[in-house]
Amino acid sequence: SSNQSVTVIGLGPMGQAMADAFLDNGHEVTLWNRTASRADALVARGAVLAKSVEDAVQANELVVLSLTDYDAMYAVLEPAADVLKGHVFVNLSSDTPEKTRAGSRWITERGGVHLTGGVTVPPAGIGKPESKTFYSGPRAAFDRHRGSLEVLTGTDFRGEEPGLAALMYQIGMAMFWPSMLSYWQAIALAEANGLKAADILSHANDTMLAMPHFLGFYAERIDAGNHEGDVDRLAMGLASVEHVKHTIGDAGVDTSFQSAVVDLFRRAMDAGHAADSFSSIVELLRKSA
Ligand code: NDP
Repeated sequence: SSNQSVTVIGLGPMGQAMADAFLDNGHEVTLWNRTASRADALVARGAVLAKSVEDAVQANELVVLSLTDYDAMYAVLEPAADVLKGHVFVNLSSDTPEKTRAGSRWITERGGVHLTGGVTVPPAGIGKPESKTFYSGPRAAFDRHRGSLEVLTGTDFRGEEPGLAALMYQIGMAMFWPSMLSYWQAIALAEANGLKAADILSHANDTMLAMPHFLGFYAERIDAGNHEGDVDRLAMGLASVEHVKHTIGDAGVDTSFQSAVVDLFRRAMDAGHAADSFSSIVELLRKSA
């Protein structure tokens, strides 16, 4: 099998978009999925549906996995454990760094090579070079298959430790979900006051667009261990997040998310950070680790 030939295992929305991108790019594509019918449209485009997982793995050196999580990988690959040797598994299923390290060991013990991937875009972002996927694992295997992987998205190789790509992915998700929750909270507050989501969209966007300034400003200080209260003080921050909580509560909107925010500010006050910047909350979070 040539360099332009790849196996894709797992045909959810992501795996389908990936197989499509490989076909668009002239790759020969072999497929396997638990529910075989999910391959129909791709087979109509020229992909080959393997009869078994063993056949799918043996068809190519490069095997891309796009499954729900790492448990699904064991479920799929266990019956093919004898033929993993010599194949490079690029696992684009997301999971915790710990799970990806264990998965990497499992593949390596069976003679395969494992590259962890963390895809940062939805299916619509697949096939676009401006999209990004984090990778970690053996550098030589990444370099060897980089051309094919760049058919899917741009690549950002983080290092050999297998958990690194998953860590970067989870860092992004740790910011994405609470950010979106803060937006749902803003919309609920707006709606309780007779406004629609569309009415606050421009203000919501301006608020988010101001964030890169804050991220950069505090990154430098935090790396330098500087939580000086010269531009903001935690005591001011606590008053502000309490105003938000009361505004939400007065409108009859659920306050549980904002209560968690207020709780963190209070605990940092109790820890003696009243006159420090609210970035001192990082110290509090680090200590509970
Ligand atoms: P889905 O969960 O929809 O795809 C699941 C795939 O895994 C299907 O092919 C499914 O098979 C298979 N699968 C699940 N469990 C098993 C099992 N026990 N045995 C065999 N096969 C199994 O996920 P997506 O396609 O949406 O995403 C794939 C990965 O990419 C996930 O890890 C996701 O977190 C990640 N990701 C997704 C994004 C998105 O926007 N969708 C964005 C970034 C990352 P079957 O068809 O038979 O059910």
